[in-house]
Amino acid sequence: MTTSVHQLDDGAWVSVNDSREVNVSDLWRLARHDFCPCRLADFLAEGFVEVAPDGADVEARVAGQCIQCGTSGVTDWLTLGRVDPDTGAFRPVVPESVHVPGRRSRRATPLRR
Ligand SMILES: [Zn+2]
Repeated sequence: MTTSVHQLDDGAWVSVNDSREVNVSDLWRLARHDFCPCRLADFLAEGFVEVAPDGADVEARVAGQCIQCGTSGVTDWLTLGRVDPDTGAFRPVVPESVHVPGRRSRRATPLRR
């Protein structure tokens, strides 16, 4: 099954399989990121810059700002949710939980220790 992912309305929405699923106005908690100096950033999402499927996951780079320190910019790839392979239904992540931005296909690369 192929997942089709698009951004709509100048990055305000992400559509998954032609259904509007994720709105941009969420607050995300980011950990282990290099977006700003905060150990745990409170990132206010303002626009989806790039979206892409990664297997069953839907990932995006998001423009916005940290409301703690005021840094604005674009994040690395964040997982927005996952498509259930059986039903095709999109299950979003909880933005307020802690997320770790990463490079694309980091999951395919074994971590070196
Ligand atoms: Zn910050």
